[in-house]
Amino acid sequence: MRTITVAVSCLAFAGEAAQEDTPWKTLAKLLAGQTPSDAFSVPGARMTSRTNRWNPLSMMARKPIVGGNWKCNPAKPGDLEGLVANINACDTSKCDVYVCPSNLHLGMVYEKFNDGILVAPQNCNFAGCGAYTGEMSVDQMKEMGIKACMIGHSERRMEFGLPTPYESNALLATKLKYILDAGLMCILAIGEPLPVREKGLEAVVDYCKGQLCDVLPTLKALEDKSRVVIAYEPVWSIGTGVTASPEQAQETQANIRSFIKDKCGADIAAKVRIQYGGSASPDNIEGLSKNPDIDGFLVGGASLKPTFVGMIEHLSK
Ligand code: PEP
Repeated sequence: MRTITVAVSCLAFAGEAAQEDTPWKTLAKLLAGQTPSDAFSVPGARMTSRTNRWNPLSMMARKPIVGGNWKCNPAKPGDLEGLVANINACDTSKCDVYVCPSNLHLGMVYEKFNDGILVAPQNCNFAGCGAYTGEMSVDQMKEMGIKACMIGHSERRMEFGLPTPYESNALLATKLKYILDAGLMCILAIGEPLPVREKGLEAVVDYCKGQLCDVLPTLKALEDKSRVVIAYEPVWSIGTGVTASPEQAQETQANIRSFIKDKCGADIAAKVRIQYGGSASPDNIEGLSKNPDIDGFLVGGASLKPTFVGMIEHLSK
């Protein structure tokens, strides 16, 4: 049943893609000997085991992207220098890299990263500067030259148990539009809690669809689709050391992409990058990264370690 669902959605897309022609034209260019960068018009586009499958959805090359979420770390400002050096060791020519320092430390480090490394605050408000105590506006970020912002992390969605209302999907859709209207890239985290995963794939996909519904109109209207990155992060795998299996991550992300295709069109679905997040580390990304719908990783704990650079190197091969 599971396999059939995924296979059917791929076939359905193949039909649509044939009408739209774009992936087929791209394929023709590749067969004619153009490099992936030229054929896809995407700098850094590459043809690897991840992208060279006979699947129109994955034939549209997407530059991989890895984010390091430092959450509320480090405790000591003196440790920032080493963490910045870790990130600066990453080569971004074939893999986009962003880093999410804690709110407190962001202003201390945002100018210390090499060109090409994006700094992405872990949250933003929904409306701009003004009477928003404790918040950060995208307008402020823009003035600082910041080019990305992450929203919707499950810890922000109040998974860590604060007795306050959750950040709703509608609020996050407002934030996403605000970020994109200001010209920044938005990383939108989604993902199901354990009780939903225990009900099976269909429940998981329905849950993720529910988290995406409100952002679809904005996504559809956006010209540069690479400015929206979806981080699929099953809540049960975040910070637990339990990684989703490559099959679980791939089938979920394929269904997310298929949903975007149904609602927004094949071209958008082919261009939006979907990361996997949840206890990802250099030791476990090999199987995950081979999959056509896994375009990179959002990394918490492992982004605080010197071996983080190995994840970017792996995706750059
Ligand atoms: C995260 O913070 O988004 C995350 C995935 O954390 P970890 O890699 O530690 O599970």
